[in-house]
Amino acid sequence: MISQGGEPRSVIRRFRGQATSDGAGVSLTRVIGSAQLDHFDPFLLLDEFRSDDPNDYIAGFPDHPHRGFETVTYMLAGRMKHEDNQGNQGLLGPGSVQWMTAGRGIVHSEIPEQEDGLMWGFQLWVNLPASQKMTAPRYQDIPAERIPQVTIKSGVVKVIAGMLGEVGGPVSDVPTHPLYLDVVMAAGTTAEFPLQTTHNAFIYVYSGTLTVKGASDQSLVRGELGCLGGGSCVAIVANEDMSFILVAAQPLNEPVARHGPFVMNSREEIQQAFADYQAGRF
Ligand code: FE
Repeated sequence: MISQGGEPRSVIRRFRGQATSDGAGVSLTRVIGSAQLDHFDPFLLLDEFRSDDPNDYIAGFPDHPHRGFETVTYMLAGRMKHEDNQGNQGLLGPGSVQWMTAGRGIVHSEIPEQEDGLMWGFQLWVNLPASQKMTAPRYQDIPAERIPQVTIKSGVVKVIAGMLGEVGGPVSDVPTHPLYLDVVMAAGTTAEFPLQTTHNAFIYVYSGTLTVKGASDQSLVRGELGCLGGGSCVAIVANEDMSFILVAAQPLNEPVARHGPFVMNSREEIQQAFADYQAGRF
């Protein structure tokens, strides 16, 4: 799984998330989809939610629509119940992933299934190409046991989507061919991860600090996002025990028209989304 050299990618931009609230008053940190970083093609949003105070999360995200993209929830701790207007429901527990292709539209709710304790995880929005925006909604609900864990010299990697060497993640048939890795590394170790040269890629550090070795070395601390430049791998040094997600996908290079929970290619399509939602056509 460790690549045989290649052109290492450097951090070209780094961002700290902004504290905000969404849903019915859930406190979270918005890392992509903020004033500083509107989107990073094809990624439209990245939120980290992390609190052991139920007041920060208990109200959850009551019924709301989505159209035109995919929402990816990855839980590190806590439980979240999911229900939609088409009769689907599921429980997301620690280490599980829900990759939801909203496509032409769903109305769903995401509500904590706990009254206290730590709730920690990420929500990522991945855009769909124009040709797939009106596809039928689809869920990939993946329990923690189905996510392969690869032991490397420096730590452990969970492969949620894409390939790490011979090991493939359980998420399948996503148009942007994503890689989604959750990496834990021990202090002082190094690792190199291959990346497809066609893909945009980022690192988000969720504990400790690391250095991305490249044309210029850049350190990232907990809560920092590093957007990576071009190349065929990323080389990481763990400055201390640390954890990060490494996410990559094929950019779409299409116009983005966005309003709240709808992400289409034109203003007219956004207006149509509102009209369809209000007419109960989701
Ligand atoms: Fe949602």
